[in-house]
Amino acid sequence: MAATTVYKYKEPAPRVDAENPLESMMSRFNVAAEILGLDEETYEVLKAADKQVIVHIPVTMDNGKVRVFEGYRVIHNTILGPSKGGIRYDKNVHLDEVKALAAWMTWKCAVVDIPYGGAKGGVICEPSTMSSGELERMTRGYTLAMKDVFGPDRDIPAPDMGTGPREMAWLMDEFSKTVGGTSPAVVTGKPLVMGGSLGRTEATGRGVMVATMAALKKLDLDPHTVSAAVQGFGNVGSWAAKLLSEKGVKIKGLSDVSGAYWNENGIDIDEAIAYKNAHAGRLDGFQGATMLARADDLLTTDVDVLVPAAVEDVITEHNAHAIKAKLIVEGANGPTSASADPIINEKGIMVVPDILANSGGVTVSYFEWVQNKQGFKWSEKMVTERADRIMNDAFEKVYQTSQKYDVPMRIAAYVVAIDKVAQTYKFRGGY
Ligand code: NAD
Repeated sequence: MAATTVYKYKEPAPRVDAENPLESMMSRFNVAAEILGLDEETYEVLKAADKQVIVHIPVTMDNGKVRVFEGYRVIHNTILGPSKGGIRYDKNVHLDEVKALAAWMTWKCAVVDIPYGGAKGGVICEPSTMSSGELERMTRGYTLAMKDVFGPDRDIPAPDMGTGPREMAWLMDEFSKTVGGTSPAVVTGKPLVMGGSLGRTEATGRGVMVATMAALKKLDLDPHTVSAAVQGFGNVGSWAAKLLSEKGVKIKGLSDVSGAYWNENGIDIDEAIAYKNAHAGRLDGFQGATMLARADDLLTTDVDVLVPAAVEDVITEHNAHAIKAKLIVEGANGPTSASADPIINEKGIMVVPDILANSGGVTVSYFEWVQNKQGFKWSEKMVTERADRIMNDAFEKVYQTSQKYDVPMRIAAYVVAIDKVAQTYKFRGGY
């Protein structure tokens, strides 16, 4: 797939429908495909999901009534290996979104060169309103309905929004019953005692930190002189903020669903984490910073590094022009809408895109799967060193590709990923 011509990057036209994550993903995919000179046949193979499964799961609720939940599993692609991707429990789960997230997983695994394809799953439900028993019955029902889709060498789920180690344990147990043995490698993100990996909890935030350090080096910026703002203070945001501050970066701004918090002298991240843990996972009332009038103002504060680590589509054509940061490192999936890309590129801001920046999570999930297959537990040091090396190698490859084609890092990441999958497809062949 190596292109013979060096193409000049063309800005995609701003899109009115950029909020549709599938459209957003495809607009970047199309630019990368053009740069690679992807032939029509391969383009057609890579753009569509291999398989979409829709199931209806009857669940006896605690009041004795049966409710039927709709669930999905989309396998985008298995050219590089068994498909990998999380399961989302949320009332807004939508097939289009699941399709986009599945494709993102294909590109994410390819960018970090791990032998997985991409998938995603979801069930339309409101987990916060359901009892543990209802969630367990729904998870077991979903697993049974997907028993011919899942498998340690076929399709390996993981947690996503609304699911965690508890749900993964139920899934592992239910799947194991269908095959008549214990099958830990069918799912990752399991509790540590039943085959989870050391280092998984902090893996995504750690990857964000490693990618940020690599980018600062390219920008010739010393972490000790740099300030940052982190949007979202959950798993990814809090670990990214903690590890960045340990590297000397001054975290001046933080936000979560309760609002945005600012301290010109730098926020004590350990203090903020301790506060959050003692207050139902939220920062409301945190005294180590003052609250900004509008939470979204955090994105346009005067900092060097911006880490969106909360939700999709927060950087759009409406606020991109006001961003002051020199570097954006995308901890969240899809925080920048396609319509904001040209504005950010015009301003010369470096973006470490989601499919690279937050790939530390799937990398350590891959390590969990390898350990389960080996029946051998790695030390935390081994996990961390190997994950850091994978992130640094992937960052360098994407950076070199962006230089070679004179394109932003986001397009370069898609070029690296699509090239890898397309080359493998050519070798494997179709019929
Ligand atoms: P989480 O549920 O642990 O935390 C989400 C945080 O975002 C919370 O602090 C919440 O209060 C905050 N938040 C929600 N809406 C907000 C808003 N509008 N403004 C500011 N803050 C808001 O989730 P997470 O696991 O940290 O995931 C965050 C993002 O990272 C998601 O896009 C997820 O898909 C992505 N991601 C997560 C992982 C992982 O390993 N956890 C891996 C790859 C990508």
